[in-house]
Amino acid sequence: MPEADIALIGLAVMGQNLILNMNDHGYVVCAYNRTVSKVHDFLNNEAKGTKVVGAESLEDMVSKLKKPRRIILLVKAGQAVDDFIDKLVPLLEPGDIIIDGGNSEYRDTTRRCKSLKEKNLLFVGSGVSGGEEGARYGPSLMPGGHREAWPHIKDIFQSIAAKVGTGEPCCDWVGDEGAGHFVKMVHNGIEYGDMQLICEAYHLMKDVLCMDHDEMAKAFNDWNKTELDSFLIEITANILKYRDTDGTHLLPKIRDSAGQKGTGKWTAISALEYGTPVTLIGEAVFARCLSSLKEERVQASKTLSGPQGVKFSGDKARFLEDIRKALYASKIISYAQGFMLLRQAAKEFGWSLNYGGIALMWRGGCIIRSVFLGKIKEAFDRDSELQSLLLDNFFSNAVQDCQDSWRRVVSTGVQQGIPMPCFTTALSFYDGYRHNMLPANLLQAQRDYFGAHTYELLSNPGHFIHTNWTGHG
Ligand code: NAP
Repeated sequence: MPEADIALIGLAVMGQNLILNMNDHGYVVCAYNRTVSKVHDFLNNEAKGTKVVGAESLEDMVSKLKKPRRIILLVKAGQAVDDFIDKLVPLLEPGDIIIDGGNSEYRDTTRRCKSLKEKNLLFVGSGVSGGEEGARYGPSLMPGGHREAWPHIKDIFQSIAAKVGTGEPCCDWVGDEGAGHFVKMVHNGIEYGDMQLICEAYHLMKDVLCMDHDEMAKAFNDWNKTELDSFLIEITANILKYRDTDGTHLLPKIRDSAGQKGTGKWTAISALEYGTPVTLIGEAVFARCLSSLKEERVQASKTLSGPQGVKFSGDKARFLEDIRKALYASKIISYAQGFMLLRQAAKEFGWSLNYGGIALMWRGGCIIRSVFLGKIKEAFDRDSELQSLLLDNFFSNAVQDCQDSWRRVVSTGVQQGIPMPCFTTALSFYDGYRHNMLPANLLQAQRDYFGAHTYELLSNPGHFIHTNWTGHG
């Protein structure tokens, strides 16, 4: 007699925690893993005393599931997902549902949707964010794929997801095909941007204002009570005050060479691919690349000089508030760019995305969780077709309020030789976006001059002409 509500394949850190989360919410989960001994280990340890059941084989697992069968894969992204799908297909019946909760590339998810549709099976690619802790107590979940699957998984997904406000789940249907994994990818890119912006604020505090670690920790703590209230600001304050076993601060002892797993890079590549100016995430990825050239930078630091004898002589408290506002304004730009990319992808693939719902999915449970995302949700509630966050009154007023501070921080930082790739690109984007006339008229003329690429006149849009620039008029 089938007893399990859902199965989960992949008993590494994410899978185990997600199973225990589902168990806590009253679901009977069947656990399976390629290395079957891990099923026994799990049942005898972490899952001891729960309602979780184990399976010895995929056939055994399928036989234990209620119909339509619901199977979550939480295995290494890539070939492992395809291998499991190939093995599951002959064991399933039309209408059964396979859910991939790993960090799969969105195009793979679209491909899998198409191929499983031909076999009358339903496929869902779901972004899962929040790491181990999120999986256990409430992740942010971003499911997309075959919409017909949603009514069958909605209750489970929304009950195990993180909750915000008055219990709203950080999980809703995202859209068709690879939309869930695309949104997860952009989320990861935004995470890169948020982290780099905080690092730039830290650099300015440390090297322009010469603040010590406890002062900086206090500043981030204070900022966490403002519009910047977020998980990343909170952990930054904790990191800054953390002391090593010898009593000194740990942070300055950490090698300044950043790693990356690739999801930020994927976002930047998509931005280039779809011609969307997601400059801040791109700069955040490049900042990690530059940091990783540690030895080369150490060499360069011996010969390349920066500005000499420029010391900050202004009001320190005022400049600290300027940095906070520069961070806030830059963050608004980053999210505006991220949502631009989502809009462009929706256009490209014919997805109908629920932007307010996406903001709510990121509002809790994941690394970028913040109060700020609630404001984004409200902006899309006011106008679900909002072209850009910068055109919403709340955000345009917020940027206006920060603008003078933001410009003071960028100019002071530049004069003092502090690298601020994300603060500066955000400001350049803002200035570009708000200009009704950019110097691209000259660019078009240059292209026409050397390549006869033609140009339009402002007075006659849509009509392309060529000029013989070396001839006489
Ligand atoms: P993981 O280390 O990415 O994967 C380990 C699991 O994949 C094990 O169950 C392993 O089975 C299975 N596996 C690996 N190669 C396989 C293959 N060729 N064929 C079949 N099974 C294979 O585990 P994880 O960190 O828990 O992550 C699971 C998924 O969630 C990944 O896609 C990951 O990117 C994503 N994710 C992770 C986090 C996180 O914080 N860790 C957060 C969000 C999303 P064996 O035990 O038999 O080796």
